[in-house]
Amino acid sequence: MVLLALGGSVMAEERLATDPNDPMNLHRVLINHVGFTPSAGKHVVVIDPPEPKFSVYQQWNGEKFSGPLIKVDQDLGPGWVGDFTALRDEGVYFIRCGGLNSHPFTISKTAYEMPLRTTLIYFNWQRCGDSRSGWNTPCHTNDGILADTGAHVDLAGGWHQSGDLRKWTWGTSFGLLGLGMTDLKRSPRWDSGQIAEEFRWGNQYFQKMVRPDGCLMDTVNMPLGWGPRKFYRQDGTLMSHYVVMAGQAIGARMFAKKDPAYSRKCLDLAKQMWTYSAGLGADFKLYRLPEIPACHEFLATAFDAYYPGSCFDQALKTYAAMRLAEAEPGGPWLDQAVQAATALAKLQFDGDPTLDPATACFREAPGKNSLNGFNSSIALGLIGMCDLIERNPGHPALAAWRHTVSKVARQMRIMSERNPWGLVPCIWYSKDPGGGRKGGSGFYRCLPALA
Ligand SMILES: [Zn+2]
Repeated sequence: MVLLALGGSVMAEERLATDPNDPMNLHRVLINHVGFTPSAGKHVVVIDPPEPKFSVYQQWNGEKFSGPLIKVDQDLGPGWVGDFTALRDEGVYFIRCGGLNSHPFTISKTAYEMPLRTTLIYFNWQRCGDSRSGWNTPCHTNDGILADTGAHVDLAGGWHQSGDLRKWTWGTSFGLLGLGMTDLKRSPRWDSGQIAEEFRWGNQYFQKMVRPDGCLMDTVNMPLGWGPRKFYRQDGTLMSHYVVMAGQAIGARMFAKKDPAYSRKCLDLAKQMWTYSAGLGADFKLYRLPEIPACHEFLATAFDAYYPGSCFDQALKTYAAMRLAEAEPGGPWLDQAVQAATALAKLQFDGDPTLDPATACFREAPGKNSLNGFNSSIALGLIGMCDLIERNPGHPALAAWRHTVSKVARQMRIMSERNPWGLVPCIWYSKDPGGGRKGGSGFYRCLPALA
């Protein structure tokens, strides 16, 4: 996102100042301002460099590294890229190219702590309902109204997804995964329980949205504003089901010792949702937004490729089953993950991504030729597949799973080297949708159609 923002700012400013004393020149030497961990890849992009080389200076301590700038000019305009991955010493640095300087940046083992903690605070501020920390609390304490009957049901809580205050279940549910895995995998020293508290605040809303039969209801949150809003008893998207389900499985582990009753509630709900989602699915084939709000017309068909048996279905099942396998060892979940991951691997196109990068994409479903490239659902599937590889080193399907992950990784590397910013395509297409770029046998866009 940092690179995307920087790329956007550069493209918006077609011609940049050349006076070395002009503060705008800071925009010509572009660096990831979040910083780098010592072992990370480290790159700088210079626009119209005065000389084809750069140096890295440590604040108050002189030059520590120098190297060439290599022009990259295939996608998204020209830029000159410098690689200083070899510099691993922790410190505060800036980059100089001719008379141009970059903003200061850090190399530090804790580089990602600041964005991590900032993001946690963001969730805290986006609390919806009668919280003590939401940016306009209390709000939407009357959520919500069932669209078909007009009856009021208690669906308060959760987080606003964005400035329009909506609580989309296919968007905010990713917060459960991020918060939960931060707690389980990192257990940061600075956390005194606020991650678990935040998880629980958001999760109260998702738990209320699950019907007794395991179906996750839908939401559009109309009308906009602070007044009463509508919710829908129809199935939410297939993606929402598996992400919320995985969130419950993660919650079961987070609270296993802290609050066993809540942990059990999370696990029971996850299993109930699996039974509904993997067993019924009929409504998923017909998913349509109950209402399409203004400026969201793209959502009308955004979930068309999500249906039982599709590659998105197998990817999301792989991820959710792995999270359930961790929450309930000895259950049927590892077998479910093996089935879904193997089905997903079979949907990847044949071919060498070095020769044809589109072959790392997946068929929409068996027998279909339309491409599904990397998106959040595929990402979850591949994370689940990597977890499966680690858990099953002797499984007969291991080679197929590894092959799948490796092809996607090679595609990402090839595509990231086509533009100075290291961006990878956000969407792949079988046929040019208009404005797409050719990538082997497919087409791609580096920025979404909305941009
Ligand atoms: Zn609210």
